[in-house]
Amino acid sequence: MQIDAAALRCVHARQWTSSAIATLQREAARSADTHLLHMTFAGFPGIDFYFKDEAAHPTGSLKHRLARSLYLYALCNGRLRPGQAVVDASSGSTAISEAWFARLLGLEFTAVMPDTTAPGKIEAVRALGGHIDLTAPGQCTQARARDIAADGACFLDQFGLAERATDWRGNNNIAESILGQLAREPHPEPAWVACGVGTGGTSATLGRYLRYRGLQTQLCVAEPEGMVYAKAWPHHDRSAEVHTVSVIEGIGRQRVEPSFQFNVVDAVIEVPDAASIAAIQLLEERLGVRYGGSSGTNFVACLQLAERMRDADARGSIVTLLCDRGARYRETRYDPAWLAARSIDPSPWKSKLAALLERGID
Ligand SMILES: *Cc1c(COP(=O)(O)O)cnc(C)c1O
Repeated sequence: MQIDAAALRCVHARQWTSSAIATLQREAARSADTHLLHMTFAGFPGIDFYFKDEAAHPTGSLKHRLARSLYLYALCNGRLRPGQAVVDASSGSTAISEAWFARLLGLEFTAVMPDTTAPGKIEAVRALGGHIDLTAPGQCTQARARDIAADGACFLDQFGLAERATDWRGNNNIAESILGQLAREPHPEPAWVACGVGTGGTSATLGRYLRYRGLQTQLCVAEPEGMVYAKAWPHHDRSAEVHTVSVIEGIGRQRVEPSFQFNVVDAVIEVPDAASIAAIQLLEERLGVRYGGSSGTNFVACLQLAERMRDADARGSIVTLLCDRGARYRETRYDPAWLAARSIDPSPWKSKLAALLERGID
């Protein structure tokens, strides 16, 4: 009897897929859940603030969850084959997590990044064995990643697949994890959850899961001032575009990404970049830890939501995310000279926000 070589290759590929999935499942089993930090502020009596510390993942950001899901999704769809190279377009955090998982699976990985990406992030991808492909301003990173995939690599496609790669019904997704951690708190059903939008994956998972669990919690998008979701959301305009830029990495998009789900969002709050920077300085003072700029954007949005609650005499809880570690931004968002060169002055915002926390005044 003759053994068909193609059939043998199929068997080998399926065995490799099984063992790659088992590797990812073992990594998930070894990982602890991230902390839900609790804070109260004198200016907001009766309001509990919770911060989901996604910087605590092994790769330092909420993209650890996404990267694990994207590899699983590619494997379970039969799109990722033994020895195949992997590529994705990323402003940094996703690339770091994807490079980490590529190394775990023994795959070659290329990150297509804008050349404005923080040097710390580029270094982190290289240190994990990833290749870097930098695009010039105006060049589309996703189109470049697709070109590389056309030559045989597997395109993880975070922007296209983030909303579907994550199991929104549970599986300890970020929403299930948060609500589980809130279960014994005074207000286990939050009034608001606030998050930024990069791919839109996190907001999609949160919004869907809140409905799935039958909660009345509202979802607020914290958006850098002038960026696309503030413009697009009122009329659910998928074709909206802006040409402004934000220094807040991971969020502040110029186009509506395909994974963003308009219908699960109840509000969008715009936050000036200087206010986001001031807010990460305040977080560092209170928590003793540096987080990235988008955590500051989230914090400022929460304070606006808290003001609305306070003005309506409401009590309750507000939840948001600490998205990534600040160490990545030492030479940029945490460097006064870098900020000054971009005319970003966080100090007036810092006084204003600090007063708000202490006394609840504007
Ligand atoms: C990706 C990212 C976000 C936004 O999350 P999405 O799920 O992609 O919308 C926020 N902050 C940081 C630092 C990120 O990397």
